[in-house]
Amino acid sequence: MIEITSANIKKAIGKARIAKPFVKVIEFRLYSVTNKTTGATYEVKFSKLGNKKLAECNCKATVICYHIGASIGAHIVLAEQMHAAPA
Ligand SMILES: [Zn+2]
Repeated sequence: MIEITSANIKKAIGKARIAKPFVKVIEFRLYSVTNKTTGATYEVKFSKLGNKKLAECNCKATVICYHIGASIGAHIVLAEQMHAAPA
């Protein structure tokens, strides 16, 4: 798991905007990201540790990659919806 910072996620989102991969929600905090050109699919997981936001992708990258950048948008929307949903 890699900690998400405003700097590294900004970079990853920038790359995702260029790559425009296809993001599918598997479940809350678990996403599948497919490169439309190569068809390669990776799984991105998000978690929280105290105030730290963490993410993990099963691609080769050891940084906050663009797969994480691509799925965080969906993740934020979903997290807000879950928070708003009645218990
Ligand atoms: Zn990745």
